Amino acid sequence: MQAGAPHFLISEAVRGEGAHLVDDAGRRFAFDYHPDGELAPRDVVSRAIFQHLKLTGQAQVWLDLRAIDQEQVNRRFPNILRVCRRWGIDPLMEPIPVSPAAHYWMGGITTDLKGQTSVPGLYAVGETASTGVHGANRLASNSLLECIVFGRELSGLELSGLESQALGAGEDGAGEALDWAIADIPDQLKILAHQRQQLAESLWQGAGICRTQASLQASIDQLEGWRQAFDALPMTQQLKQLVPGRSRAIGGGEPGVWNELLRAWGELDNLLLVGWLILKSAQFRQESRGGHYRLDFPATDPLWQVHTLVERRDGQAYWQRSGPLLP
Ligand SMILES: Cc1cc2nc3c(=O)[nH]c(=O)nc-3n(C[C@H](O)[C@H](O)[C@H](O)COP(=O)(O)OP(=O)(O)OC[C@H]3O[C@@H](n4cnc5c(N)ncnc54)[C@H](O)[C@@H]3O)c2cc1C
Repeated sequence: MQAGAPHFLISEAVRGEGAHLVDDAGRRFAFDYHPDGELAPRDVVSRAIFQHLKLTGQAQVWLDLRAIDQEQVNRRFPNILRVCRRWGIDPLMEPIPVSPAAHYWMGGITTDLKGQTSVPGLYAVGETASTGVHGANRLASNSLLECIVFGRELSGLELSGLESQALGAGEDGAGEALDWAIADIPDQLKILAHQRQQLAESLWQGAGICRTQASLQASIDQLEGWRQAFDALPMTQQLKQLVPGRSRAIGGGEPGVWNELLRAWGELDNLLLVGWLILKSAQFRQESRGGHYRLDFPATDPLWQVHTLVERRDGQAYWQRSGPLLP
């Protein structure tokens, strides 16, 4: 494969059609880990790859499509063929290097079946929501279905009586102003982008395919350090003082530049919080279930057949087991 090739999703449907997962020696190792081999549940296959790489010291595994009829590959997976060929691999002639990747987050903001959260007037739909339709694993394609079903439900929402509280004050344009030099923005953006990259790496190390108390704690310590540094940034100190609807940016420059900075800042703020919640929740759940696999608690425990609920009270986060037993 040519250098610089992007990571992109090779659909699970390829394994469903009969592709083989093989190691450097061409051996179908997935059967060492589960009798269904490549067709085992997605978390099992991910762990099989992870453990096989650790065991053999090899750098990657391969997906071999040559077991599938060529005409079928052409018809079913034209996009995969196109992208692979663009980067120097012809899947009809040779296997594709693959590795597991996170592409869904189980859990989110608790809502009812209408998308209503515990904050009046605030609704959540899609991957951000926890509606109860997913269990310990997201089944293939259920997240898109969830967006459609709950989005449609929300489209019937009665809006009268709901008032925006966030933007109520300050239509007069008065209020605080951000006073940053436009020339500082590229540097600030670089700091935020670097921090975001480090955050993703830390989460992958701490709460990736296999988790332990120690790996989770190491990531939590890192994130708590980064949170302190983030909160101490001059821009954070200023932004946290602002009143929605009363403050405006000054200092010249295009609004787009400010928006880019504010967006990068706001997303990092949220990611630090969400990452911390994921790590602490994974530490709280002392068992293994679906995509949550603890090397130090490898068994599934019936006492944990419940959701984990995190609530904020008086500025503190509290964890509890909650809700009906999961199926
Ligand atoms: C590689 C990959 C493959 C996947 N494959 C499948 C699959 O085959 N089947 C399946 O069911 N699911 C799949 N998923 C999961 C599925 O794509 C997501 O669960 C789904 O797209 C979530 O939809 P959403 O609308 O909740 O969030 P998103 O699709 O993330 O949409 C959120 C939108 O909000 C915008 N936004 C963010 N912040 C702001 C802001 N402050 N202001 C305004 N806009 C903002 C974003 O730009 C984005 O457009 C896959 C995910 C990945 C990453």
